[in-house]
Amino acid sequence: MNVLEDALARVERLGAEAGVRPAVVAGLQHPRECLIATLPLRMDDGSTRHFTGYRCRWNSALGPTKGGIRFHPQVSLEEVQALALWMTIKCAVVSIPYGGAKGGVVVDPKELSPLELERLARAYMRAMADMVGPDRDIPAPDMYTNARIMGWMADEYNMIHRRRAPGVITGKPISQGGSLGRDEATGRGAFLAIERLAERLERKPEATRVAIQGFGNAGYHLARLLQRAGYRIVAVSDSKGAIYSNKGFDVESLYQHKQETRKLRGVYCEGSVCELVDHEQISNEELLELDVELLVPAALEGVIHAGNVERIKAPIIAEVANGPIHGDVDDALEERGIRVLPDVLVNAGGVTVSYFEWVQNRQGYPWTLDEVRTRLADVMARAFDSIWEIHEQEGRSLRASAYTVAMRRLATAIESQGTREYFRGED
Ligand code: GLU
Repeated sequence: MNVLEDALARVERLGAEAGVRPAVVAGLQHPRECLIATLPLRMDDGSTRHFTGYRCRWNSALGPTKGGIRFHPQVSLEEVQALALWMTIKCAVVSIPYGGAKGGVVVDPKELSPLELERLARAYMRAMADMVGPDRDIPAPDMYTNARIMGWMADEYNMIHRRRAPGVITGKPISQGGSLGRDEATGRGAFLAIERLAERLERKPEATRVAIQGFGNAGYHLARLLQRAGYRIVAVSDSKGAIYSNKGFDVESLYQHKQETRKLRGVYCEGSVCELVDHEQISNEELLELDVELLVPAALEGVIHAGNVERIKAPIIAEVANGPIHGDVDDALEERGIRVLPDVLVNAGGVTVSYFEWVQNRQGYPWTLDEVRTRLADVMARAFDSIWEIHEQEGRSLRASAYTVAMRRLATAIESQGTREYFRGED
């Protein structure tokens, strides 16, 4: 089962359980539109290479479509579609007025020079310039894309349309209309959701050891906030491998090291902090199976599956990545009493602050960092509580409860256009 089939099957299963009309679930099984473009790129040596770019808008019942663009060698049409579907659910979970979309380019950006990267970003926007728009489809950063890349894309859009339209893309540099707090938003949103769950479960930070797979933007900010709140970060990984120390790591030192060397492996083995912490080098797979209280997959999708689910020991998993758990092991985790804070809630802080950025762009009135953080906390608390209520009252998993919240909201919007019963005069 590929990632898209897996995502569709989950919507079908959880949609039926949520009690929404079959027509609504059926409508959510198809993308609204997808564009596949070849992006010719002039390389620095004068040669031309061709890259494939995708953009899919899944559903726009709740508003213009929204979702990031990833630059990664494993991007595929199926993956982009699955991610667009998850964006649809995610925006509905946090109740922001957006549908879902996603984009991607099949490329290893680490192989490109900064100038090549700029030309690729601009080429992507040229190809998608009629599909995106401030009231139509609003991209943002995702894996291996960042504020600078969003800035180039915004500039390209402005040039094509001969006007300034900052609301066409979010996650921009602050100087180009970006929002304060957008860089940390995914990590902070995840932190807020984890804290709220910990409160409900009466779990103490000091007694919570955390393993984080992936030390990108979301993984780093979450680790930083967790450590500051008293949690012990005992394992961290990047694409090259993982490190583990039961005593816990200092997140800022790890981050500095990663910035300087571009990798985590070898951390603490050179320089002044070398002898301070005993640590082991382990693999990314071993990290997932550690005996910790909180496991945070914050890298790629599909890392917890039928092949390793029996070996997962953490009683709580927070899905900071999109889709890190295969749909076919949802039940196995639930049966073992493992609580999963689902991606569509736990990583929704990013798109929530993207929404704040878009609102600020439309108002032409930037908010303070405090305003952004307060409003983010408010959105995450309300979304968490609406999910928790269903979880408590109906005894369903947190994921099933999140999908229930989302699908009921989507159903209300879709059905406001009329249902079968309405058109047959039975309503
Ligand atoms: N790429 C992020 C996500 O998967 C953020 C999307 C956005 O800000 O639009 O949620």
